Order: sequence, then C-alpha cells, then structure tokens
Amino acid sequence: MSAIRQASAPAIPYDAIIIGAGFSGLYQLHKLRDGLGLKVRVLEAGGGVGGTWYWNRYPGARCDSESFSYSYSFSKELEQEWEWSERYPSHEEIRCYLNHVADRFGLRQDIQLNTRVKGAAFDSSRDLWTVTTESRESFVTRFLITAVGCISTANVPDIPGRDSFSGQWYHTGRWPHEGVDFTGKRVGLIGTGSTGIQAAPVIAESAAHLTVFQRTANFSIPARNAPLTPEFIREIKSNYPALRDIMRSTTNGHPFAISQDSALAVPEEERRARYERAWEVGGLRFRAEFSDLLSDKAANDTAVEFIHDKIRAIVKDPAIAEKLIPRDHPFATKRPPVDTDYFETFNRDNVRLVDVKADPIEAIVPEGILLKSGGIVPLDIIVFATGYDALTGSLLAMDIRGADGHSLREDWAAGPCTYLGLQAPHFPNMFIITGPGSPSVLCNMPVPIEQHVNWITECIAYMDAKGYSRIETGEQEAKAWVAHVNEAANATLLPLAGSSWYLGANIPGKPRVFMPYAGGMARYAALCAEVAQADYRGFRFLSGQTQRRQSL
Ligand code: NAP
Repeated sequence: MSAIRQASAPAIPYDAIIIGAGFSGLYQLHKLRDGLGLKVRVLEAGGGVGGTWYWNRYPGARCDSESFSYSYSFSKELEQEWEWSERYPSHEEIRCYLNHVADRFGLRQDIQLNTRVKGAAFDSSRDLWTVTTESRESFVTRFLITAVGCISTANVPDIPGRDSFSGQWYHTGRWPHEGVDFTGKRVGLIGTGSTGIQAAPVIAESAAHLTVFQRTANFSIPARNAPLTPEFIREIKSNYPALRDIMRSTTNGHPFAISQDSALAVPEEERRARYERAWEVGGLRFRAEFSDLLSDKAANDTAVEFIHDKIRAIVKDPAIAEKLIPRDHPFATKRPPVDTDYFETFNRDNVRLVDVKADPIEAIVPEGILLKSGGIVPLDIIVFATGYDALTGSLLAMDIRGADGHSLREDWAAGPCTYLGLQAPHFPNMFIITGPGSPSVLCNMPVPIEQHVNWITECIAYMDAKGYSRIETGEQEAKAWVAHVNEAANATLLPLAGSSWYLGANIPGKPRVFMPYAGGMARYAALCAEVAQADYRGFRFLSGQTQRRQSL
C-alpha cells in the first residue's frame, strides 16, 4: 500500500488492467478492447508476448496438446490462415503463433512489456484498483484481470551449496534465449516431470554425458510427434467447427472423446490390444482409451501394468528399468508426460540414472552434485527441471490488497479460496483467468482460457449495461465452491498422487489442497453459464460508486 502511495508516475485511468500477455492476456485484451470498446492495458513482465512460452525454451520444449487444438477458436480467419507444421507444436512455433496473433489483431500497442506488477490495492470508496509495478509506475483501473498463467513461477530447490557450483545452472522455465551449448559437457538434469522427460533425450544427444537425477519415477506415453501432411491440415481446416464442439464437450478440452468403455468390462486380450493401439497412436489419447482410468483403481491398475511392461521392454538393463518404473501413484494422477524416446535414452552409453530416493542429493559442490552416499557426480552444467509453484505462485508473488485491506496472501494462507475459480471474496472487480478452483491445468489450456475470457467479458458488458460499478462474491459462496472442488477431486483418483503439484505438494510449506477443478471442463462451463443466466448468482453488484471515466 505504501509503495502505491509513493509511486511517482501519474495515475492513468483504465477500464481494465490485464496482468500477463500469454494466451489468456492477449485474448482478454482483444475481447475487451475490440469487443466492448474499453480502455485496456496489458502489463507483461517478459520482453515479448507468449507468457509461459516466452520463458520456456529448454531443449525439447513443446506442448503435449495437439497443435491444431492448442489454438484460439475465436477467429475463423485465424484458424484458416495459420498453418501448424507438426503434430505437437514446438515452443518456437507457439511463440510465432502468439506473435502473429498480437500483430494480426493490433494488440501490441496496448501491451507494456518488461513491466512486472508488484502489487494492487482496491479503493472501496471509488470501486477502483490501483496497480503498481516494480518500476514504480501506477495504473488506476475499474477491473483487474490476472492472466498470469498456471505454471510460471519457477521452483528452484534450495539445495545447499547451489551458489558454490563452478559450472552453470539453469531452470528450464527461465531458459537463456541464446540457448545452451551442451557439446562436450557433463550435464546433470534434476527432475523427471513433463519437462525433464522432454529435455533428457535432446540433451543426451549433444552432451558428452548426462546424469538424470530422479526422485520419483514417472509414467510417460510416446508422443509420436511427426510433421503434419497437407491432407491432414486440409481435413482439420474443413472440420474446425466440429472439432471445437468436441473440445468443448469433453472433460479435458482435447479434440477426442473419452471412451465409454470400462477397462474392466472388456476381456484381457482385447484390453491389451486396445492399449497397444493407443500406445502406437501416442499422446494423451492413451488416457482416453477407457472411461474409468481416473475413477477406478482396478481399472487404472490395468494401464499401470501395461506401461510397466513397456518400460521393461524398452530399457535394456533390467535394473535401470526397475528404477524407472513408477510405483507410488496411479497412472495419470500426476499430469502424464508424453515423450520422444525418453525411456530409450537410458540405453545410451552416455546416460546414467541416479535414484535420489535411494541416494539423496546432499549438496551442490563446486565440482558437481554430492550424494548422501559420499559420491560426487562431476558436472559442468546443472539443469533444474524441478517445476513450478503452480496456480497460486504467480498470484501470491504480488501484494494484492482487496476491500478492507484484505491481503490475498493472508486470505489464501491455508489454500486458495475462490468462487468458480473466477473471483476471491474481498477482491471485488478482480477476475482470475484459469486460477485455482477452475479446470485450468487439467485441460488443453486454450479451452478454459477462452471460456473464462468470454465469461469475464460478458460479465463486464452486463455490469456496464446495468450501470454497476462493483462485482464481488462472498465467503459463503467461496467456501461452498471450495468444498465442491474437493468433492470433485475426491470422486477421482487424482488425490492419490500425494506428491503432485496439483496439491501444492512440490513446494515446501505450501498448503496441501487440491487446486484445480476436476469436475470436467464441459460441466464447469455449463455451470458458469448457468450462473450468468441467473443474473450472476453468487455475485453481488453495487452501483454508483465509480466516478464516470471522464471525471477520473
Ligand atoms: P513437475 O511436474 O513438478 O516435475 C518436477 C520434477 O522435479 C519432479 O520429478 C520432481 O520430483 C523433481 N524435483 C523437484 N524438486 C526436486 C528436488 N529438490 N530434488 C530432486 N528432484 C526434485 O515440473 P515440470 O516437469 O516442469 O512440469 C510441470 C507442468 O508443466 C507439467 O505437469 C505440465 O502441466 C506442464 N508442462 C507441459 C509440457 C507439455 O505440454 N509438454 C511440458 C513441460 C511442462 P518429485 O516428483 O519427487 O516431486
């Protein structure tokens, strides 16, 4: 608050300040500015647009959603003119796409880059937010919209001695734009989540030696990435409306339906044949092969057994295969990685697996990593593929103060508390895009992003039509929603992955709360639409407190 008062730059009135210029911030700017004619500014910490894809440039980085589905649906022209080149888009191609969107819709003029938001405070007497940046600029706005991404605050574990390392270290989510040359280097990779699993095979190809430090073995399905043929692209372009319908009607927003068949209802031979086919097709479609993989442990066990057998068949050294076999969580209860030659990488002469559950990392020393057993793994480069303070990290990095001095950090000390994942009680006129309590990370992200942006835009249009200056939700509504979020998670096997970032379990001291809404994207979208139809049930509106824009 005091920083806000001391800010030297003059306050400029806006209808909306959007924090973040990734997928969600770009679309929200377009909708509010070009759809409603509002005065909007996007504040972005990075030096370019792209959000998570501005930062994530590590070797092998690509999305595990299929490219044509990892795209906006709001512009038919954009759908037709943009051409994806591979089944899964690389980080470079996604950045090109988002830069193209920024240019095509003239968004850049309203995006301020290299601007990190430090905090925001709500003035209840005027129903206005004041947003302040690290460079001490301040912006006065009616609405504050966070589009900060779900997995953007890097988690670099506080391993003793890190700064004593005589080589270089990098976190995958803050990758140097000029790249890293691994030629002739001894590289240590810590982490075997989606990121580590993508990076390991690519690093192994150019490094002299790669040591993978694995704390928890992970499931992974072959991606089967490949260039897209002209016929496939033509087919997609002529079927976009139907594909979007499928994406909006499913649990996860992907362009394929989840089978209605129980894994337990088909004879074993047929089940194996179906898994085998799904393994060949590759990608997240594997998870959709049966209806109950995420709801019935016995059904899930059949997938687990199949994948265990695959790992044993791929990895030549049986002792290494056993270490790579995940045993502590059911399949897909952590976000399932998809890979290109991950397990095959451990057949290479220049790759070693260190099981840090059996022999934990004790410290980082100048020459490499010291293990508890006393051995030192000599390294030139350490790559931290150690994940993110997901869903809440980027929101709570800012000092956000709502009505009556409520602090978001304090209010969420025991875990995030929102109504529909869209708004927190005591934080009027602030909307969270794909925040905790919404389907977000359980989905192909553009689908929940577009749904939230459209809902927020319609809500603001409704307020302006009615002359309302304030929208707020209450504690009761948020408590009931959080209870429903827990109930939805508990109806699945997802909470059984005790160390998952969905639960905040990867960050020391973070409350263990299942954060995303597991009730399904289609169901959630229907619920949000129903709330809007019922005059925004669960929200309250006030009018008359905002001075007209001209008089600000
Ligand atoms: P992650 O899933 O959180 O994985 C982090 C890895 O680092 C885990 O293996 C974890 O081990 C390990 N780790 C963390 N701290 C450690 C420590 N102190 N010592 C040893 N190991 C440690 O992070 P991520 O792989 O970056 O993925 C995060 C999410 O980003 C994904 O789940 C996905 O949603 C998204 N993502 C998507 C793509 C894609 O679209 N293809 C690619 C990358 C990321 P434990 O399991 O034991 O905690």
